[in-house]
Amino acid sequence: MGIVSKGVPVVSGVAYAPALWLRKPQFHDDTTNSNATDQTIDCAREVRRFTEAADQVAERFNERALQTVGSASDILTVSAAMATDPAWRKATIDLINTGVPATRATTTTLGEIARKFVASGTVLADRVTDLVDLRDRILAGLHGLPEMDLPQPDSPVVLLCDDLAPADTAALDPKMIQGLVCRHSGPTSHSAIIARQMGIPCIVSTQGLDNIEDGTLVLVNGTKGTVKVNPDPGHARSLVALEEARHEAASKWVGPAKTRDGIRTYLYANVQNRVGALQAKEVGAEGIGLLRTELAFIGHTMEPSIEAQARAYQNITDVFPDDRIIVRTLDAGSDKPVAWAGTQPEENPALGVRGLRTRGRRPEVLEHQLDALAIVNEGRNDPLNVMAPMVATLEEAAEFAEKVRTRGMVPGVMIEVPAIAFLAGPLLEIIDFVSLGTNDLTQYLMAADRTNPHVATYLDAWQPAVLAMINSVARAAGATGKRACVCGEAAADPVLGAVLLGMGVTGLSMAPSAIRTVGSFIGQINLETCKRAATAVLGASAGNNFAKYSGAFNASEARERALAVLADAGVEFGFSEGS
Ligand code: PEP
Ligand code: MG
Repeated sequence: MGIVSKGVPVVSGVAYAPALWLRKPQFHDDTTNSNATDQTIDCAREVRRFTEAADQVAERFNERALQTVGSASDILTVSAAMATDPAWRKATIDLINTGVPATRATTTTLGEIARKFVASGTVLADRVTDLVDLRDRILAGLHGLPEMDLPQPDSPVVLLCDDLAPADTAALDPKMIQGLVCRHSGPTSHSAIIARQMGIPCIVSTQGLDNIEDGTLVLVNGTKGTVKVNPDPGHARSLVALEEARHEAASKWVGPAKTRDGIRTYLYANVQNRVGALQAKEVGAEGIGLLRTELAFIGHTMEPSIEAQARAYQNITDVFPDDRIIVRTLDAGSDKPVAWAGTQPEENPALGVRGLRTRGRRPEVLEHQLDALAIVNEGRNDPLNVMAPMVATLEEAAEFAEKVRTRGMVPGVMIEVPAIAFLAGPLLEIIDFVSLGTNDLTQYLMAADRTNPHVATYLDAWQPAVLAMINSVARAAGATGKRACVCGEAAADPVLGAVLLGMGVTGLSMAPSAIRTVGSFIGQINLETCKRAATAVLGASAGNNFAKYSGAFNASEARERALAVLADAGVEFGFSEGS
């Protein structure tokens, strides 16, 4: 049988195992009649039952957070905080006290929050799965049922589901759950983030799963986003063997990163705290390519003092005392609301006051942050590189560069807004480096909200228009001899990483968990092959608007073309026949 299902690939790799559907129990609470009260219920008892159930869920989340590390642990801690949030608990208790049973009150209040999340149009919309999971766990407690956990298969399976809550994803045993295929979810969902950390091949927004029954053998290709039913067993096993060999090589990889023919490439880490920086160091990162400073202070209600900021940054940068560090100034707004930085609720926050734009409302916040970074910079041998997010004009870049240079640091800009990508040449005369934030660049170029799973197929950095734009920026950097790094999720895809290097990108920055895989993959390929892969994807007409277009037709074809060049050079991914 051929490919039956196609989705958005989010974690590369291959899995071949019987399918197992995750079926969650449906709780039928009377939501249609959500305000109906029942004067016969014992309100005090219902409040007690609700509080106990919610406490128990929070406790379980906290326990699991302690058993995991990295983003999985952070996400579980946030889930626990959600379960204990005083505002919605109070709303639920108030409702129960009017005579609404605890089950219905829970469903009603969490349902209202979910509707607000969706309407916000922010990354919160991606968190509705978390709320549904919280509701189901509390309802299970109220019904006297055990919390619904994942099936615990005793042999490997590919897990199929509508969506997976973070608590479930974090509890996956990668030895048994060899692949994860979600009908819904977007590439930025918590499930995707955790699957990436765990290295479980994963596809989201997948169509055509309906006819796959439990026990059917499926081949999941997390690099191409396909699921094949009952593939040829010999072929499928050989792909798995290749994948295992790749894992083995990756686990032994030590930097510094080089192509097969010995050309140095630079792999950096995206971090937001000291734990991430330590992990990055351990896996051979050559520094920090993106320090997301807004995430270090997202829970704060007031602006931290300059000294407190300096201490927090130093705590992270100290892990790499002599290596390159690229700090991004606060990217507050849109999916990362930080009230003290001047963000406000907006109709269309991704297109609103976000990143560098917040200085219009609170100019002193940027000055203070740069002052804090200047303190850290004083003790460093290698000066800090400091870049601004969400820059759209040359004027903004020039103003920012001056502030950074006068403090003795190296100024750069993130390329996230297409307007500034078009002006990469003149931009690079003003600043010293650029870093392509492909998550936002893809969102803005493809006009597809990165938090909306319904447009996930547009949010693929393999989209030919995105690749053409990255290429034009890399060429501008090459012409000026300045650095153009990629720090979006695209850098963590090993095949795409090779294509980006072929375009002339000078460094790749990614989640620490991806560094060894990308490093060992790049080590198998000559730079010339990377260049050929880039040309195959872009077409010979790249850079010449008047030549007949010969680049890839769509994101899948772009991937196919790159894989074909790599296969031709002996870098066998085994995917060339459309599996
Ligand atoms: C990006 O947009 O690609 C990026 C790295 O920034 P963030 O994901 O933090 O918006
Ligand atoms: Mg961004």
